[in-house]
Amino acid sequence: MLDPTITISDELLLQVLAQSKDATAIYDSENLNIRFANDAMLSLWGKNRSVVGKTIEEAIPEIKDQSFIGLLKNVWHTGKTYTAIDTPASLIINGLLTTSYFDFEYRAITDASGNTYCLLHTAADVTQRFKDQEEITERSAKEQQLIEELAAGNEELTALNEEYLSTNEELSIISAENRKALEQLAMAKQAAGIGVFDLDVVNDCLVWDERCKQLFGVSAQKEVTYTSDFVEGLHPDDRELTLKAVANAYNKALTAGRYNVKYRTVGTDDKQIRWVHAVGQVHFNEQDKPQRFIGTVMDITTEVDARLKLEQSESQLQDANEELFAINEEQSSINEELRATNEELADTQTELLLANIKLLESQTRLRDVLEQAPIGMCVLRGPEHVIEIANNAILNIWGRTRAEVMDKPHRNARPELEGQPVFDWIDNVYRTGKRQVNQEFKVMLRNGDGLREAIVNSIYEPLRDSEGNINGVLIVLEDITAAVKERREAAHIQEMFNLAIEAGELGAFYYDPTSNLFKGNETLKRWFGLGKDEYLDLQLAIEVIADEDRSRVAEAITFALDTASGGNYDVEYTILNPQTNTTRIVKAKGKTQFDTYGLAMSLNGMLLDITERKKDEQRKNDFIAMVSHELKTPLTSIKGFTQMLQSKAVKREDDFSLKALDKTNIQINKMTTLINGFLNVSRLESGKIHINSQVFDMAELVKETEEESTAIISSHNVVFAPVVKTMVNADRDKIGQVINNFISNAVKYSPGGSTIYITCVISNGMALISVKDEGMGIAAKDIDRLFERYYRVESKSMGTISGFGIGLYLCSEIIQRHNGNIGVESVLGEGSTFWFTLPVCPA
Ligand code: ADP
Repeated sequence: MLDPTITISDELLLQVLAQSKDATAIYDSENLNIRFANDAMLSLWGKNRSVVGKTIEEAIPEIKDQSFIGLLKNVWHTGKTYTAIDTPASLIINGLLTTSYFDFEYRAITDASGNTYCLLHTAADVTQRFKDQEEITERSAKEQQLIEELAAGNEELTALNEEYLSTNEELSIISAENRKALEQLAMAKQAAGIGVFDLDVVNDCLVWDERCKQLFGVSAQKEVTYTSDFVEGLHPDDRELTLKAVANAYNKALTAGRYNVKYRTVGTDDKQIRWVHAVGQVHFNEQDKPQRFIGTVMDITTEVDARLKLEQSESQLQDANEELFAINEEQSSINEELRATNEELADTQTELLLANIKLLESQTRLRDVLEQAPIGMCVLRGPEHVIEIANNAILNIWGRTRAEVMDKPHRNARPELEGQPVFDWIDNVYRTGKRQVNQEFKVMLRNGDGLREAIVNSIYEPLRDSEGNINGVLIVLEDITAAVKERREAAHIQEMFNLAIEAGELGAFYYDPTSNLFKGNETLKRWFGLGKDEYLDLQLAIEVIADEDRSRVAEAITFALDTASGGNYDVEYTILNPQTNTTRIVKAKGKTQFDTYGLAMSLNGMLLDITERKKDEQRKNDFIAMVSHELKTPLTSIKGFTQMLQSKAVKREDDFSLKALDKTNIQINKMTTLINGFLNVSRLESGKIHINSQVFDMAELVKETEEESTAIISSHNVVFAPVVKTMVNADRDKIGQVINNFISNAVKYSPGGSTIYITCVISNGMALISVKDEGMGIAAKDIDRLFERYYRVESKSMGTISGFGIGLYLCSEIIQRHNGNIGVESVLGEGSTFWFTLPVCPA
C-alpha cells in the first residue's frame, strides 16, 4: 500500500502513467483538452504526440460523430465513472478509417468538494478478443444447426428404410415374374458365347458362369476366387491395365462404376491365350463404396488375331515405307545441307566481295573527301607518322609538294617544324588517343626556300583499327593567317577610326530600331549628357533635342528607316544638355542598313558639332544684311543720278553717254537684285519674310511672265505652253519671283540659242509649273544639295558664271511656306527641268 505521507508530484505521476502498457489519457478541461496521453493511447488513436494540448475533437476529428465525446462530457459533469466493453470505435490509423473494439473506462478525478478537475481515460484494444468471441459464437451456432440437420437426416433415413422394405417386397414379386425372362436371357447369352461374372466386392466372393470359366481356361466345376483365378488368369502383359480398369470402375466419381476393357487370359489348365472383351458395372452403397461388380466377358480372340495380323502386315508395310521414307529424307536433307552450304559459300563470297568493295569505296571515299576538302587534311600512319594521305590544301599550307612528303615519316618530310611543338603533339595524340585541338596558334611554315609565320587552327585526331588500337593520326589544318591579319587590321582600322572620331570631336552613333537603343561614343554621350555606361533610347534622345527641332529630327529618323529614303539621314538640330544646361548645334548624318526584306537593321552615323559654324554663319548673315542694307541707300541714289544723267544725255543726244548709262543701269539692276536677294535671305533667317496670300489665276501670272521674258530675253527661245485657268491661293509676287528665278537660271546655265519651255498644268490636284532647259544639266550628287543656301555646283563649266547660290534656296523656302513641293530632274550635259507645285484652290 502506498504510504500516504509520500506525495507524488503531477509530473512524476504522468511519467509513471507514460510507462504504463495500458493506454491512458488525461483530459484537464471541460472541453476535453488532452493534458496527457501515453504512447499506448497515441498508438491506439493512430496519432502522434502533437495531439497533446489539443481538445479531443481537434485531435481525433473522426470520432466527432461517434458517441465518445458526449460520454466523456457526461462523466465530467456527473463525476460518474463510465465503463464499457467490446465497443467499436472508428479511427484513422495510417491514413485508413479502421474500426477496432475497445474496453475502456472514463473516470472523473474530483477535488474535495466533488468538482471534476480531470478525466482519466484508460482503454484496451480488444479487437482480437472480440473477433475470437464472435467466431466462437458463430461456430456454436453452426454446430447447433448441424445437430438439427442430423436429427432431420435420421428421420429421413428411418423413412427411407421403410421405403426400402416395401421396395424389397415389390422386388421379390418382380423376380418371380422375371425369372422366366432371365432364363431366356441366359440362353441368348450362351448362344452368343457371353460369360457372366458376379463379384461380391465386400466379401471377395466371385462367381463365374461356365462360359466365363471357359474363357479363363478353368474347369466348369472349379470354385473360383478373384485373386487366384481372375488376377492370375490375366495375361501378364495385360494384368496391370485390367486391374487398373477394375480399380477405376470401383471409383464412382471417376467412372460411375462402368467397366469396359479388352485383355488376354492365359488358360489355367490349357495355357491357351484368349482375347476377351469385358463389360461390367459396379454397384455402390450410400457411401459410394463398391458392393457388387457384375458384368459379361466375350471371346474376341479371332477378331483380335485378324486385326493383329492386319496390323502386323500394315506395320511391316509401314516399317518398309518408313525406312524408304527415312532414306529419302536423309537423302534430301543431305541435298539440303549441300545446297545450304553452297548458298552459304555463295553468300560469304558475295559478302566478302561487297565488304571488299565497301572497303575500297570507303577508302576511296575517305581519300576523295580528304583530297577534295577545302581545308587541309592528312593521314599519318603508324608510330613513325608516315604521311599516307595529304590533300592539296594541306600541301599548300605546308609549302611542300606531294613528292616531297608522301610515304615519308612526318618528321623527315617537314624538318622545318623541328623545335616547334607540332611533332610532340602528334606523338602525344598517337600515344594517348586523346584528340588535340589548337586555336589560332603561330607556327613557322616552309615558304619557298625560307619560312613564313602562319596562324593556323588545327585538330589532331587519333585513328583506330577495327580492334580499337591506334594506328594513325588525322590532321585537319586551316590557315587563318590572312583572316587573322584582316581581323587585326580591321581592329586597327577601327581603333584608328575611333581615335580619329575622338580627335575630330565627332559623335558616333548606332541606332538599333528593334531594341530602340542608341549606342554612341563618349563624345556623343557627353553631348547628350549621359554617363559612360548609360544607354540612350530613342525617346530619351529625342527629349534632349530642342523643342523647335524635335519633331523634325523624329521625322528624319522615321524617314531614314524607310527603304524609300534610301536610308539617308541628314539633319541639323540643337541639343540641350540636361547635365550642363548648354546648347550645341549638331549636324547628324547617317545611313540605314536594311536586310534583304527591306527591314531596317541599324542606323549608323556621325554627329558634327556645328555650333561655331552656325555662329559664324549668323555673323556672316548679320554682316551681309547690314552691308546690303547700307548698300541699298547709295545704290538708290546712284540709280537716281544715273536716271538724271540719262535724261540729260537724251537731251544732248550724247549717244556714247546714253549707251554707257544703259550699261550702268543694267549693272545697277543686277546689283539691286543681288542686294534684295541678300536682304531676303536675312529676312528669311530672322523669320521676317511674310507670305501675303491671295487667290489668283496662275494662267494670268504665267502670261505676265511670258510678256516680260519675251521683252527682256533675246539670247534664247523662250516657249510658253498654253495654260488653262488654275486658281491658287498664294503670294502672287513671290511665286512670280520663283518662276523668274527658274527662267533666269535656265538662261544662265544653257547655251544661247537653245530653247526654254515653260508649262503650267494641273496634276493630282496641284498646279505644276516647270521650266525646262537644254543646258549643262546637274550631276546626281549635286541635285540633293541644290536648294541649300549658298550652294553652287563646282565644275569647269560653271567657271565663268557668277552667282551666290541663294536663288534656289529662296525659291525652296517660298514654296515650302506655300505647302508646295520643289524639285529638279536633270541629266548632266542634256538639260534640267526645275518644277514646283502649289495646291489648287477649290473652284
Ligand atoms: P546661283 O545661280 O546664283 O549660283 P542658285 O541658287 O540660283 O544660285 O543656283 C544654285 C546652283 O544651282 C547654281 O550655282 C548652279 O550650279 C545650279 N543651277 C541652277 N539652275 C540651273 C540650271 N538651270 N542648270 C544647271 N544648273 C543650275
